[in-house]
Parts: sequence; structure tokens; C-alpha cells
Amino acid sequence: MDGPDEFLIDSREPALRRLPSVDRVLRHEGVARLVDEHGRSFVTAQLRALLADLRARTGTGEPPAEALDDAALARALSERCARRLAPKLRSVLNLSGVVIHTNLGRAVLAQPALQQVLHTVSGACNLEYDLDTGRRGERDSLVEGLLAELTGAEAATVVNNNAAAVLLTIAAFARGREVVVSRGELVEIGGAFRMPEIMECAGARMVEVGTTNRTHPHDYERAIGRRTALLMKVHTSNYRVQGFTASVDEATLARIAHAHGLALASDLGSGALVDLSSYGLPREPQPQPMLAAGCDVVTFSGDKLLGGPQAGLIVGTRAAVGKIRRHPLKRALRLSKLPLAMLEATLKLYLRPERLPIDLPTLRLLVRPLTAIRESAQALAPRFAEAVAPRYQASVVELASQIGSGSLPTETLPSAGLAIEPVRGFSSGIGSALEELAGVLRSLPTPVIGRVSQDRLLLDLRCLEDESALVALLPTLRERLAR
Ligand SMILES: *Cc1c(COP(=O)(O)O)cnc(C)c1O
Repeated sequence: MDGPDEFLIDSREPALRRLPSVDRVLRHEGVARLVDEHGRSFVTAQLRALLADLRARTGTGEPPAEALDDAALARALSERCARRLAPKLRSVLNLSGVVIHTNLGRAVLAQPALQQVLHTVSGACNLEYDLDTGRRGERDSLVEGLLAELTGAEAATVVNNNAAAVLLTIAAFARGREVVVSRGELVEIGGAFRMPEIMECAGARMVEVGTTNRTHPHDYERAIGRRTALLMKVHTSNYRVQGFTASVDEATLARIAHAHGLALASDLGSGALVDLSSYGLPREPQPQPMLAAGCDVVTFSGDKLLGGPQAGLIVGTRAAVGKIRRHPLKRALRLSKLPLAMLEATLKLYLRPERLPIDLPTLRLLVRPLTAIRESAQALAPRFAEAVAPRYQASVVELASQIGSGSLPTETLPSAGLAIEPVRGFSSGIGSALEELAGVLRSLPTPVIGRVSQDRLLLDLRCLEDESALVALLPTLRERLAR
């Protein structure tokens, strides 16, 4: 696209000649205000694109009405500028029924974590600066003491995510050597994290022992040889092997490893810092007993059950963590100041366990009483039904939420929500009607994410703590369904 008046001089297409020029639109007062706000180059680029769209829509026919009205053009341009600047990463309402949903950003951060990050990184901070001595500091030291205190570990370090924590641990201990792991624990986590491939990336050779359902201490003993560097235990976080099964616990494995002068690493995946059963939830492995059982290294995620930012937490003995910290990959995988600030604030919440179900959103959502969720569903149902009528009907339904993110796959939490069904006679097929509704819900100013199951669209209200967020969307929902 070159000259501003390019289509004014196009004598072959009289319809196009009626479209205004860039220069003329730029002189409109509404557009001048946009230029003041955003600068000339951005607004001009958006205007060119807008006029190109209008030109394409005009073709050889009549220009669209708004193309001939400068005020309407200015409005369209203002909307286009706003859309262009709107973030692609947006907040959504997670009514999917999966509390820690990997595709929806996993853990919802606690307010203190958000405040901490705003407060800390809006200026310079002591990320690697020791305020006591005035010398260079170590970023790990910002959370190491806290992690040690909370888990009983001698030492701790943090990296970008748990996949990185596992990769780094294996690289530090077993590059060019062997890692022994049970065939029952070769997990694949969504998003292409596969234990065998991580081993390969880390330059280690994986030695599989046992079978899918049963692995015994002597399987590990027999596999240990000259080239063995590490025994590895992986929590099968997103599946359960049930029935005729046997696995070797950490204490036994630690004894075997240490008797051969080897280290034992345990990847917990989610890893809960508190005993979830004390909050009435299904139990999930904690790093504390793993360390007590003799694991040299335990790795887990920051943004799963811990309820913090994306991070990989590595806790263990001083010797093991030291070895990991000195590995060159640590520098490549280190945590940046933003998640570090959020992680520190999140971990601080754990110092006050009684307040945790109030202060930590992940836990708060997991322990949210069924009665409260049901009440919310009952209050919302008539308003929602009104918004989707007459094409759909909505009713209160009992549901089962999942904890998500691979944690506790077989355990669900009783929940409640809305079930929306197409009304016969108003749509051609149930499937396409549900797809259309799901699409409209996703198109709302705050997208609403539900799930389709058995010819109904289900909205699990466990994660909707503020009903007004959904109520505010109902007029737009009604309008879009009526189109
Ligand atoms: C989730 C998980 C990982 C990966 O953790 P990220 O924080 O997503 O990188 C690794 N191992 C297990 C067992 C997991 O559940």
C-alpha cells in the first residue's frame, strides 16, 4: 500500500472512488483525538487496514454505509485501534470443572503474590544483591530458607518449571550415565513431557525395571551397575495403576541407592506442601515425608497444588542441591524476578496454615462448600435461563469437579452448576446447537469456558466465587444468541 489517495484515482471503479482518503479521515476530529492518544503511525496503519477492508467489501458494488460517514468511520477506527491493542492473554471464567486447568493458566494467584510482584518489579529490586553486606547475592536465597523450613530440606533451589527441575536434576547427576526407573512410572504429562525423552535430553540413559504393574526392590538392585548414577521415583500424577500392583517406597529405594553410593530423586509432579486431608481433600504426596524417607532430591511444581506461579521447586540435601545449582543448565533454566516475587509471597502464606483456605485461591476453591456452590447455581439458574431462552433451557445440576493438572485424577469433588440444553424445534441438531452456544460463551467480553457432556453444556460453578462476573455477561449473551 503506498499513496494515501491510491483509490481516489482509480477511474475504473466508481464505487471505490467514493471511499474517503486516508488524509481526509485523519483530519476528522475523532481521529485527531486517536492520533493524540496513540501517535500518528499506529493510527494511520490501522486506518489503512480499515480502508482496505472497506474496499474489499465494496468490490464493484455499493460501499458500506459506514464508509461514507466520517463519524462512523472514526468510530470504526477507534474500535479497530482498541482491538489491536487488546491483550491476547485475557482473563476467562473457568467453569470447566477442572480447578487447576493447565490450558487455563493453572493456579490462580493469591492477592499477596500479585501485590508483591507489582510492588517489587515496578522498580529496581535486590534480586541478586545482599542488602546486609552490599555484595553480590544469590537469587535462590530469597526463597531457600522458606522452602527449607516448609519442607524440612537442608537446601533448595528453583527453576522455570518442574519439567526443568527434573531435566536439571537428571543432567546434574546422570549425564552420560544411567538412571534406573520403574516401568510403572514412565509418565507422560500433557504438553509433551515424557520421562524417557527428558532423560534423553538430559544426556542420561534410562534403565527401565519391573513391569507396568509390579516393581520390586530386587528389580532395582539387579539393574544397578558401574554406570548407574541415580535411582528415580516418579509420581504417577495423572493415572493410577490399580489391581495387582507393587511398587517400591522411597525409604526402601533410598536404602538401596545409598548402599551403592547412589542418589535417589523423586519427582512429585504436583506436590502439596500441606496435608490436604486435613482440609477434607484427598491426600496428595508431600515433599516432607519423601525427604524424611531419604530422598536426596525432590522436585515439584509451583503452579499446581502449591497455588503459586509457574516454577520448578527442587529441595533436598545440601550436597545434592549444590550439585544441581552448579550445573551450567541452572543458569539457563533459572527463575526470573517476577515469578520469584510471586513464589516468595505464596510460600509466605504457608506460614499461616489456618488462614491458607482463605488466602490461597487454589485451596479456597478446592474446599469451597457444596452448599455455597449449589446456592450460587440456584441463584444464577433463572437469570441464565432467561438469557438463553427460547433456544436453550438452563437448570441446576449436581456435578463433580476435578482438581486437575494431573493431580488426583481418580478423585473428584462434589460440585454444582448449570446444565444448558437446546430446546427442540429451535435448532437443527443438538451437537451444533451446543457448539454454537459454547462458541458464543467464548466470544463474551470475559470468555466463559464450560464443557460439553452428554448433550448438555455444563458450567461448573466451583471456581466462580464472584457471581456478578457472570451476571454482567448475560445481556451480551442474550444479544449474541438472538442474532
Ligand atoms: C506436572 C508434572 C511435571 C511437569 O511439571 P511442570 O511444572 O508442568 O513443568 C513433571 N512430572 C510430573 C509427575 C508432573 O505431574
